Amino acid sequence: MIQNKNILQDPFGRQHTYLRISLTELCNLRCTYCMPAEGIQLSPRSHIMNYDEVYTIAKTFVDHGVTKIRLTGGEPLVRRDADVILKKLATLPVELSITSNAVIIDRFIDILKECNIKNINVSLDSLDAEKFKEITRRNDFEKVYKNIMLLIDEGFYVKLNAVLINGFNDNEIIDFIELTKELPVSVRFIEFMPFDGNKWDKAKMVSYAQVMEYVNANYDDGKVIRLKDAPNDTSKNYKIEGYKGSFAIISSVTNPFCDSCNRIRLTANGRLKNCLFSSSESDLLTPLREGKSIEPMIQKAIQAKFKVRGGMDTMEKLEQPDLHGNNRSMIAIGG
Ligand code: SAM
Ligand code: SF4
Repeated sequence: MIQNKNILQDPFGRQHTYLRISLTELCNLRCTYCMPAEGIQLSPRSHIMNYDEVYTIAKTFVDHGVTKIRLTGGEPLVRRDADVILKKLATLPVELSITSNAVIIDRFIDILKECNIKNINVSLDSLDAEKFKEITRRNDFEKVYKNIMLLIDEGFYVKLNAVLINGFNDNEIIDFIELTKELPVSVRFIEFMPFDGNKWDKAKMVSYAQVMEYVNANYDDGKVIRLKDAPNDTSKNYKIEGYKGSFAIISSVTNPFCDSCNRIRLTANGRLKNCLFSSSESDLLTPLREGKSIEPMIQKAIQAKFKVRGGMDTMEKLEQPDLHGNNRSMIAIGG
């Protein structure tokens, strides 16, 4: 029995209007920070939401106030019926977007346009083909770079996501920012986050403050412009004066943005995660398959949301592997 009609509002008054849906646990890359070397235990195929189930669950959220849906994964585009799902979700009154590694996105240009998708986030952790191969364990740099250029030419607004790892790609921060001189993209530097099996270590993380040290050492004072962040934005946005694009830092570790969090996540096997860092999940697919209403489960999950980072409200707690070791790998959550 639903007591509160506003089922997407949590006890801290946060209204959840942004749903990220993971379409698959599979991926055509193997990024070291996302996918453990030994792979992950995949859900049996029958436990993965089919396209009708994705649509029905998404529609329930939209009926309760979700205005924005982002498809993610794994790699959302490796799913065989990705085009069917895109088209079905495009019929909902929401802003639809996608996060992809762009390896095969050239095959989807027409569908993305047909579905009125304007914003595409692409992972790119290095501008060096060899380093790209090292971090993704695949040799696809040329393909990805070419596809990023294609997306820009085709008029999509592209954000490039780079997870920074100390001693690996922190020396490319300025190269990435220089990319924004001629390209109208937003480069987003993401603090490396701890997940199951990714060997996280605080020393490997490059913090917001460290990124700004590089920036301030390389550009004159007046040249670095702080932009206004959009409401509920998880990033701190900047640009270099006169450059076509911009850059941003997503500081989930050193500077969490939990106060204004409006996000919830649906995993490919139909579980609701109320926070990226939460170790608990609520199964929506089983009640849906049993013909029951999923709204009470949704409300319960939202009510159980912690104020900060799944309860890991201090850096000390974040550094305890037993607290985040129960959380899935990012590849199985959907970043
Ligand atoms: N395959 C798609 C891609 O790579 O863009 C979508 C899924 S991926 C899990 C979504 C985002 O999560 C990517 O931008 C990736 O860089 C980010 N991510 C994965 N593991 C992470 C980690 N440990 N720390 C920070 N970001 C991470
Ligand atoms: Fe695949 Fe994206 Fe994870 Fe890389 S970050 S392994 S591309 S899901």
